[in-house]
Amino acid sequence: MMRCSKCMKKAIIFQRYSGMWLCEEHFIRDVERKVKRRMRKNKMIERNDIIAVALSGGKDSSALLTFLHETFKERRDLKIIAITIDEGIEGYREVLRKYAEKLCDELGVEHYVFSFLKEFGKTLDEIVKERELTPCTYCGVMRKYLLNKHAKNFGATKLATGHNLDDLAQTILLNYMRGEIERLARIMPEKRKRGLIPRIRPFMDVPEKEMVLYSILKGHNIFEEECPYAELSMRAEIRDFLNKFEYKHPGTKYSILRGFERLRPVISELTKSVKLRECEMCGEMTSGKICKTCEMIEKIRREEQILQNDVYEI
Ligand code: SF4
Ligand SMILES: [Zn+2]
Ligand SMILES: [Zn+2]
Repeated sequence: MMRCSKCMKKAIIFQRYSGMWLCEEHFIRDVERKVKRRMRKNKMIERNDIIAVALSGGKDSSALLTFLHETFKERRDLKIIAITIDEGIEGYREVLRKYAEKLCDELGVEHYVFSFLKEFGKTLDEIVKERELTPCTYCGVMRKYLLNKHAKNFGATKLATGHNLDDLAQTILLNYMRGEIERLARIMPEKRKRGLIPRIRPFMDVPEKEMVLYSILKGHNIFEEECPYAELSMRAEIRDFLNKFEYKHPGTKYSILRGFERLRPVISELTKSVKLRECEMCGEMTSGKICKTCEMIEKIRREEQILQNDVYEI
């Protein structure tokens, strides 16, 4: 039996990157210490904040909502609400949505659900049928759009997401590999932008594996099924490659994040001339004339008209 490096009780995890064995108590403390340190460092929570938590119902966002609720329940000046986006992914989303509802009931947190079907007239399943873009491209853009729009309508001052270290390291690499510098700059914006609610990611220093263990120990739902579309994305390839790399070279994911944080001011300087303005169709903030979501919706409508009228676009 391996023993905790801090107290000699039975260890439940070995952190390859730190070389430490930790017992249940010290593991939970280590995770929460990382989260609190990050929240202080990035001044994530400020007086009188209304925090909208993007609650998918999966382990990360459930753990985040519970953590924020427990940490700040005595703070009268703060308010926490939860927003769930139902993309319309058969066999996957309903289960998570029910779990999200149950959790909010238990915690007594206001919960709001918005669906692609009601907002865009179609579910994600319908949108992606026979389209060339991978589902995650539509899903990610449209989900972020709805989260920002509705969080803003509720007067939220922060939008909190459960992204962990793996998610962030993948996003950083993904944007490097695609040469998307503007998107890279938007991962952790240095300055507030009008019309965009500042995003906070308190779990960004916690590796995915530790999030799984933390969630189990905290009694959260570990939903085994993955989204049926996940494997189609480039992110899935990067995830597998990064996991192999992390195994061989422990600490790689942290290095990607730290390196990015150091580069952040330079990237920000490079992209500062990109001005945001209101989308001509929906009024949300965008760098172009119309926002990415309206562009996607328009494209879908046009394609459908063409199909219905049996005419060909030339
Ligand atoms: S894996 Fe892709 S399609 Fe599935 S929920 Fe995530 S972003 Fe959406
Ligand atoms: Zn211990
Ligand atoms: Zn728009």
